Amino acid sequence: MTSGAATQTLQNEVTQLLQELIRLDTVNPPGNETRAAEALQRYLEANGVSCQLYAKVPERANLVARLPGRSGGPTLALLSHTDTVLADPAEWQVDPWSGEVRDGEIWGRGALDMKGQVAATAVAVASLAREGFEPEGDVIFVAAADEEVGDGFGLAWLCEEHPDAVRAEYSLNEGAGDRVEIGGRPFYLCSTAEKMSSPFLLRVRGRSGHASMPGIADNALVKAAAYIEKLGAFVPEPRLEPEVAAMFEAVVGAPPEDAQQVLDVARAVDPLAAELVEPLVGLTLSPTMASASQKRNVIPALCEVTVDCRLLPGQTQAEAEGVVRELLGAGDYELEWIEGQGGTRSPMEGPLWDAIGAWVTETEPEATVAPICVTGFTDSHWLRDAFGTSAYGFFPMRYMDPQLATRLVHSADERARVEDLGLGAAFLRYAVRAMNEA
Ligand SMILES: [Zn+2]
Repeated sequence: MTSGAATQTLQNEVTQLLQELIRLDTVNPPGNETRAAEALQRYLEANGVSCQLYAKVPERANLVARLPGRSGGPTLALLSHTDTVLADPAEWQVDPWSGEVRDGEIWGRGALDMKGQVAATAVAVASLAREGFEPEGDVIFVAAADEEVGDGFGLAWLCEEHPDAVRAEYSLNEGAGDRVEIGGRPFYLCSTAEKMSSPFLLRVRGRSGHASMPGIADNALVKAAAYIEKLGAFVPEPRLEPEVAAMFEAVVGAPPEDAQQVLDVARAVDPLAAELVEPLVGLTLSPTMASASQKRNVIPALCEVTVDCRLLPGQTQAEAEGVVRELLGAGDYELEWIEGQGGTRSPMEGPLWDAIGAWVTETEPEATVAPICVTGFTDSHWLRDAFGTSAYGFFPMRYMDPQLATRLVHSADERARVEDLGLGAAFLRYAVRAMNEA
């Protein structure tokens, strides 16, 4: 079989499995990921791969499949999640759970986020097992539940309750892999770090009173408006992080002097580059929800504003609180952190990082891999946090326009290009082999 024909076969196998997974509704909440875990188990076991389901409650199983290592080499975890966000069929051109193939694209909820990668990973592992491939260290495939909501049924729970099932020195997950052109040159983005999701509540105090006599009260809603405006207009003092410096160096060919130079160059090169870089040089503040009086004729004594806040990896809430208080100035308000999740990073070096770079060069010689810090949160955080795993977000997307893909994730008409899924499976096979060469 020629290698072109082999890729074609791989691609067909991923397509079929992805169609099956899309047709299993795993919208979270409620999840029902056991459906997907069992379908994957059937497929993998038929190909000689041993599987184990781990479930906190029966309907929300996580699947862990394993190719056992021969010689105790480092473990490589191929991470993914089987739940999806909801879909409103009225917004879609096709049934979101149809898995319909049209013009080389598979349509359906989860095609991009991330049942496509789930299927490609399953096929990569199954095809290696069929060929009799025996890795040096364990290769595990984790298809976790509950990534989209994070209620404690998925990878966080596995790390806590079944650490031996998921402990790994290296991992590959969602997060990046898109091919972007910057200044006319192709780059494949690899995520090596994540910002910390750190929302807070701003509680603004006033004094209630009858709305017919505004002068007797102190309107908390009106006071909050001034603060909301300041939060919305916030621009951080730019700070240079290692991922941004390395990305700059990959694109420009020399290290940057400071964060301001990165911003200036990005704006001059391409508006897309500037949009990518801006959230990566500082914390971001987005006021998203507000509540005040429950009655039209009562002036509120309290207004609560929820602010979505994202910190740079390593930045603390105490530091961020100082920035916010300086921005708002003194006043009748309290600031309360709701949570802090993520904000971890992995080194931009080592065997898995090298394998990704080598694959990019082999696949498209004029392209380079470039590291990024992602603004969102992925399950990679749990492995980094629990085991110090070198975790990267990389699933290559060469054929679909990355801006289109960004618009389709969590939105209507989500779909993936069949060629990208075949490419993804080929990449994962390559990475597993590269990490397990004697
Ligand atoms: Zn996802």
